[in-house]
Amino acid sequence: MDIKRNYKYLLSDLSSIKGVGVKTTNLLKKKKINTIFDLLWKLPKSYIDRSLSYKIKDLKVDETQTITIVPQKYLFPRIRNLPNRVLCNDETGEIECVFFNSYEGYIKKILPIGKEVTISGKIKFFRNKYQLTNPKYISEDSSLIKQKHNSYSLTEGISEKVYNKIMLQVINNLPQINEWHSKKILKNFNNISWNESIKKLHQPENIGKFKENFYQRLAFDEIFSTFLVNSEVRKKIRKIKKTKKKIETKEQNKIISKLDFSLTNDQKKSLSEINKDLGSENKMFRLLQGDVGSGKTIVSLLSAFNTINSGFQVAVMAPTEILARQHFLLAKKIFPKNISIELLSGKSIYRDKKDILNRLLKKQIDIIFGTHALFQKKVEFKKLGLIVIDEQHKFGVNQRKKLSDKAGKDCDVLLMTATPIPRTLTMTIYGDMDLSIIREKPNIRKPVKTYSKLENKIDDIVKFVNKEIKLGNQIFWVCPLIEESKKIDHSSAVKKFEFLKKLFPKQVYLLHGKTTIEEKETILNKFLKNDFKILVSTTIIEVGIDFPNANVIIIENANKFGLSQLHQLRGRVGRGNKESSCILMFKSNLSENAKKRINILKNSDDGFKISEEDMKLRGFGDILGFKQSGIKNFKLADPIHNHNLFILAEQEIKRIESENEDISRFKPLIKLYDRADIINDIA
Ligand code: ADP
Ligand code: MG
Repeated sequence: MDIKRNYKYLLSDLSSIKGVGVKTTNLLKKKKINTIFDLLWKLPKSYIDRSLSYKIKDLKVDETQTITIVPQKYLFPRIRNLPNRVLCNDETGEIECVFFNSYEGYIKKILPIGKEVTISGKIKFFRNKYQLTNPKYISEDSSLIKQKHNSYSLTEGISEKVYNKIMLQVINNLPQINEWHSKKILKNFNNISWNESIKKLHQPENIGKFKENFYQRLAFDEIFSTFLVNSEVRKKIRKIKKTKKKIETKEQNKIISKLDFSLTNDQKKSLSEINKDLGSENKMFRLLQGDVGSGKTIVSLLSAFNTINSGFQVAVMAPTEILARQHFLLAKKIFPKNISIELLSGKSIYRDKKDILNRLLKKQIDIIFGTHALFQKKVEFKKLGLIVIDEQHKFGVNQRKKLSDKAGKDCDVLLMTATPIPRTLTMTIYGDMDLSIIREKPNIRKPVKTYSKLENKIDDIVKFVNKEIKLGNQIFWVCPLIEESKKIDHSSAVKKFEFLKKLFPKQVYLLHGKTTIEEKETILNKFLKNDFKILVSTTIIEVGIDFPNANVIIIENANKFGLSQLHQLRGRVGRGNKESSCILMFKSNLSENAKKRINILKNSDDGFKISEEDMKLRGFGDILGFKQSGIKNFKLADPIHNHNLFILAEQEIKRIESENEDISRFKPLIKLYDRADIINDIA
């Protein structure tokens, strides 16, 4: 089979392209361009129209123009460092081509005396003569020059001419690919094929035409391939048959009735969705998504209880020991006494740990809390039925799949995240999971009052802090990393710490990027016990921990954060029953746009809404958790502007799933667009 007729050609390396040697290949590799397919997304930024040709007398200085001329005379100086010149003319005048650093032989070859050549470049006027310096576009074949030439944002060491040459070959050699979409889907894009779309994408006059069919189709392909992979992963996991859990709602409700609050409707709904999964013969792989403080913990503990009650063990993992301990203590408080509950802590002495591991293996422990260390090889269970992972937004789809595989066949998986993100992103990032959403927050929560203050009003803020401390309250003081650099810059936090320490002796502690994990846990525990009043930190404190006594958060240089991030930080306070405040500090007066953003935050406590608005104003790259999510960035698709394409892709996936349609026709699409490991065992 001629490989050029197959999509696999697009996945081959660059060696088959003429004019691409080892040097160019290596330069492109540095830009993560390894295959011909990768090259397709290297789009022209603008173009230079060299198609119109002028006469010398009509030339305009300082513009790029194309002329057809005849070389008359070489002027090669005997003195080094002077440029070589070639006198040329047409019937209307003279022009000099000037070459720095070019060999005479080369010049003679490209500008042979008496032969007509077409030449293009920026025209200068010097010593009464038109000049063209170091011309790059020269040919005896005028049609090669008289074109629209794309300009690319260049990779160092590769010229525009080489890029144009490479791209021309690639576009001309696109393999014939069978259409993977249904007729109905294609209609949305006026039936334009993939090949045709790629060609149009690279035509200079189509730069920036995001609304056109070719662009929309290609963006859709990208979104759809992501959704398809997600769907396949989900199907694969759900296909795994497990032993059903028997849910005793009576026992569950006994616990609920003893709580000092009643569940919100969304908590009830999420719980029943989870229970349904636990009781089904298909393995659960579910995400519980809910804003900070929406009450996810209790939902997960009730599911854990149901699992235990049906004869299985449960593991609950949190990102920090403190959070693990909080969940552990809550379980101790609400579960019946006959349930055996343990905490596996990094600090536990060896003998205790060994004892816990032993009892887990004998099923003498029903539920264990801990950090991700729980997932180590040596931690083994006799009958693990459910894993709960709290605040997991740092996992990508690959890691999740591995996690599910490792959990074992009878083990359901519940992940929880407090990162409300717009729907288009949820479908993209978590499309491999079933989803339960808690939107409604417990109504006992008083909204946090949000203020903005200029930095030079720090005296007012200090007064306010003083007043709060006298009332017995605690304060978070957040200093952002000054620049978005990898090297953690904590100087602003250190400075603020020194400043506050003088004002509030013995009441201030500091956390920053260089604080060790043990130190951090110690400091947070002290804060939790109200041993001191002000915790200064960079943004490294985990969001999930309940500090009921902290009711003020001060955020410096607040414009450095996205709205979602500010909202999450704000969610650290207001967990008790006191009035809480969030003070956003700014270096200078806010621009109109910044005011708009801050007002969204002041007027809303709905993380989902805030993230939608934030995305509209700042783009999706800034949404918290998106960058860390491990998801590849889209090349063309944009969750804001292509909202309708995401919805269309979702509908199509649902249709394919419900009709159990054969997806083998999408194999090229998946192979081209998504080369993640997980796909190997799917398509
Ligand atoms: P998150 O969803 O951020 O993990 P938590 O589960 O930590 O939220 O709950 C935050 C606080 O709200 C906890 O102190 C919890 O006891 C309380 N809470 C949870 N559900 C309710 C409810 N339905 N009514 C009142 N308070 C609730
Ligand atoms: Mg939580």
